[in-house]
Amino acid sequence: MAGGSQLDLVIKNGTIVTASDIFEAEIGVEDGKVASISKSLSGQAKEVIDAKGKLIFPGIIDAHTHLEMLWMGTVNPDDFEWGSIAGACGGVTTLIDFAIQKKGKTILEEVEARRQNADPKVCIDYSLHAGVTDLTEATLAEIPKVIQYGCPSFKMFMTYRKEGVMIDDEMLFSALLAMKKHGGLLGVHAENDSIISYFTETLLKEGKKTVAHFSLSRPSFAEEEAVKRAIILAENAGASLYFFHLSTKEGLAAITQARDRGLDILAETCPQYLLLTDDVYLREDGRNFVCAPPIRTKEDSEALWQGLARGDVALVATDHSVSTTRQKKLGDTFDKVRVGVPGIETLLPMLYSEGVRKGRISLNRLIEILCSNPAKVFGLYPKKGTIAIGSDADITIFDPEKKVTITTKRLHSRNDYNIYEGWKVKGYPETTILRGDIIYRNERFCGKKGQGRFIAREPYKKL
Ligand code: MN
Ligand code: MN
Repeated sequence: MAGGSQLDLVIKNGTIVTASDIFEAEIGVEDGKVASISKSLSGQAKEVIDAKGKLIFPGIIDAHTHLEMLWMGTVNPDDFEWGSIAGACGGVTTLIDFAIQKKGKTILEEVEARRQNADPKVCIDYSLHAGVTDLTEATLAEIPKVIQYGCPSFKMFMTYRKEGVMIDDEMLFSALLAMKKHGGLLGVHAENDSIISYFTETLLKEGKKTVAHFSLSRPSFAEEEAVKRAIILAENAGASLYFFHLSTKEGLAAITQARDRGLDILAETCPQYLLLTDDVYLREDGRNFVCAPPIRTKEDSEALWQGLARGDVALVATDHSVSTTRQKKLGDTFDKVRVGVPGIETLLPMLYSEGVRKGRISLNRLIEILCSNPAKVFGLYPKKGTIAIGSDADITIFDPEKKVTITTKRLHSRNDYNIYEGWKVKGYPETTILRGDIIYRNERFCGKKGQGRFIAREPYKKL
């Protein structure tokens, strides 16, 4: 700033929390970036926030969302505007969604198409994982260009054959080699499609068609087998590998073993696998909890919490994929129910209450799994994911004492139900700041449509 010393924003009296530290200091913001962190800042500021009694977090990163996605014939009602508003109101300042390659089209065509949808609407910063559904010579040649464009993370589906997006092991192995060569990170949806198909057909033939049978159609060993197979392929390709939405203790055990042998295997889990158990499928509204992989048992969620605490699960993201109750009712058998559950707005408060308050993870670890690890794994660090001089001024001011009952009515998603309806949390985001601009305050979204930016990310570096 030429000649002047006036800061755009100062946040004072709060307690800053990063992945490694907890300390009291004032934060000065200028031109959308953190300009100073000091015991006491001198000079004037255009705006001062008094954060006494509050915790100051880096903006939360939700590295796994599906906004306005066409799936099973209908589109998710949370578009880039409403999904990102829900995020902002939950302390999220960056999301990573997907551009899933259409058969016969290039990856970058879909990235551009998604950006055309997102850019005029999105209210927080965002980026895109590249979904690869067809690995031709042309696609392989495109991978370095996609990385160079700023999308260094890829997703392949080891299931969803009927939906037309499943890859085979040859494609998976070839993609792993390409990632290693060009600096990308491959992530997989790890479930064995044949096992799911066998149990689905068998259950339907036996007349077991309701949602009560959904989790039986996708047993834990379908995930376990796919996790182990993908690890073997990654090990022999000499490549790193990321697991989206890990749900089972068996899958986690395989990942832990691989990591103990020195392999760079990363796992994400989601709040629904940490907080809910499969008896939700016995409820009358069980279809509203249908997601893939399915919600598992208490033993699985306990194992995942332990994996998070000791570092074998690298981060938590939501897989936010919203269907209305009407969309959920379109399918009349368990295999036809539209998959996906909401989560972006409740990510931080649920993990704070259930994780930090209950002693399952430390406050620093919370920030590591929601901010710095997603930023590092996906090439956003230190622009995002921490509070440091020169970083984007993406900041979530959190009131650790605020009590809230989670209800659909108070959330901002364009959805008519929530999977945590009636849960009580203590600790809730109070103010969300995106690159120095306040976008959520006094329980209201106060940002602007289209204010979010596409963020080009750096190639993959090991944690
Ligand atoms: Mn998936
Ligand atoms: Mn997903």
